[in-house]
Amino acid sequence: MSREIAEHLRYFGELGVEGVSKDVKWRQRPDVANPPEGGHHHVAEDLAIDPVGSGFGRINSGDTLDIIKADIGDDCRRCKLCTMGRSQIVFGVGNPKARLMFVGEAPGEEEDKRGEPFVGRAGQLLTKIIEAIGLTRDQVYIANVIKCRPPGNRNPEADEVEQCEPYLFRQIDVIKPRVIVSLGKFAAQSLLKTMDPITRLRGRQFDYRGAALIPTFHPAYLLRNPSAKREVWEDMKKVRAILQAET
Ligand code: URA
Repeated sequence: MSREIAEHLRYFGELGVEGVSKDVKWRQRPDVANPPEGGHHHVAEDLAIDPVGSGFGRINSGDTLDIIKADIGDDCRRCKLCTMGRSQIVFGVGNPKARLMFVGEAPGEEEDKRGEPFVGRAGQLLTKIIEAIGLTRDQVYIANVIKCRPPGNRNPEADEVEQCEPYLFRQIDVIKPRVIVSLGKFAAQSLLKTMDPITRLRGRQFDYRGAALIPTFHPAYLLRNPSAKREVWEDMKKVRAILQAET
């Protein structure tokens, strides 16, 4: 067995996938040998990059990720988290033209140290989840509802979210992803402005700022409850189908 196939199967196993489907649809992939227009593309690149650039008919506001980052500044003092031990702002990482974006809750200890979202244990599992649908971390965009680490990893508080979320909204509007996957109860409830439990939100799809929002479980929850990887895999298949339908 080639190393690549073995690796792929390991990811599936890691995600709790016990078998493969014979359904033809499962095997359909964009035709790499005969790309629709122009030369050869890398398939994963096609999945990650919006070829139109301007997204879904929205007017380009002139905003960019660099402008948003500069507006936040290196020493943001808009909420109390700046006095509660955060070491840096964790802005977000990935492809500025990603068609798939992940939104988590807030940076944890490792993320606060490294300045990058989802790099701790939960982040490593998120990386595997991304790779399980044939993409890499570089091809998607990863951010959080709030950009500074809450002390002791407590949940973000309402005033912190209120100050910080406009910057996430601007990131979403600049990136214009086709699909947003929210990770965990907190991110789904914050984005959708609802108190519905994650068990009611997951398994559904919402229209959100021009994207399809698919709430799924947080990878940290999966570390504690590995059996829930099955549901996350169902969600990720839905994500892959949406992205492939338009390539
Ligand atoms: N959990 C989150 O919600 N976000 C991170 O960046 C890391 C862990």
